[in-house]
Amino acid sequence: MLRSIMLMLLAALLLTACDGKAVPAPTPEPAEQEKDWKTTVDGAAVLQRTKRILSWGPRVAGSKGSLGTRLEIKSMLAEVGIAAKDIIEQSFEAKTPNPPTQGKTTFTNIIARIPGRNTRGLALAAHYDSKHFEEFKFLGANDAASSVALVIELVKAEVVRAKTTPRENTLWLLFFDGEEAYVDWHTNNDNTYGSREFVKHLAEYPVRGLVLVDMVGTKNILLADDANSSAHLKDILKRTSRDVLGYNLLARPFSAVDDHVPFRDAKVPCVDLIDHAFDTSTWWHTVHDTLENLDQRSLEKVGTMLAAALPALEQAVNQ
Ligand SMILES: [Zn+2]
Repeated sequence: MLRSIMLMLLAALLLTACDGKAVPAPTPEPAEQEKDWKTTVDGAAVLQRTKRILSWGPRVAGSKGSLGTRLEIKSMLAEVGIAAKDIIEQSFEAKTPNPPTQGKTTFTNIIARIPGRNTRGLALAAHYDSKHFEEFKFLGANDAASSVALVIELVKAEVVRAKTTPRENTLWLLFFDGEEAYVDWHTNNDNTYGSREFVKHLAEYPVRGLVLVDMVGTKNILLADDANSSAHLKDILKRTSRDVLGYNLLARPFSAVDDHVPFRDAKVPCVDLIDHAFDTSTWWHTVHDTLENLDQRSLEKVGTMLAAALPALEQAVNQ
């Protein structure tokens, strides 16, 4: 994804070079040192769930792997206590430029919820499709099977809590199909098929805010301070990460084009929790995006921050 970002970064670097002013990587203030934090999300369980998703092989829309992955996601949602009536599939056709099916492809989002008294609420989301590559088998452990796994593992505690303390508002869980481009991210809207379809149905699924998780399993994860994300939601996450981890995890200015952008365009507050340097990673969109290269501590770090920020995020979007 996101060649434009690479170009923008390149442009930024060139500008920097022309100005003759190098911009050093921000060094944490003394007060911003990582503290000795304890995870509240079971990282080993996240890896185990990721492994189950990857066992289906590539998950390109319309493939057997995609179908199997949906069964796997639905069974994991049931395992964490989400009722069958609260898990649905949203299928639709969209025009895609991919050979050999040039024309229409069927996509399927999974929509689940921990219901509250009101149907409105915050959504946690990740894309479950994997990018299609002709020349090698692409698994997308980081991009974004482990994000799906992290969201499911994280809400386990919310399901338990909701049994004793009934929810005022609903917590939505969205697993998007078709985030990846078939041919070229930048032409013919060849990207974010699932999220673009979902926002057409906001009257039916009243999502009032979105936290998207995408590629958060690289070692020593640092997240983007994304220009396309809502400032007030980023502030909650920055504050929470300082409280919980000892420093701001959303530290690098960046402009991400991802499944949150259709929400932003629909005026739904949103934030993308995305590795600030995914596009410079040596294994992004390569055969090396596998389970072995995921870092459990990074997944726990993002999960712990998000779990701690959840009440404030929900409060902010449900006002
Ligand atoms: Zn990707």
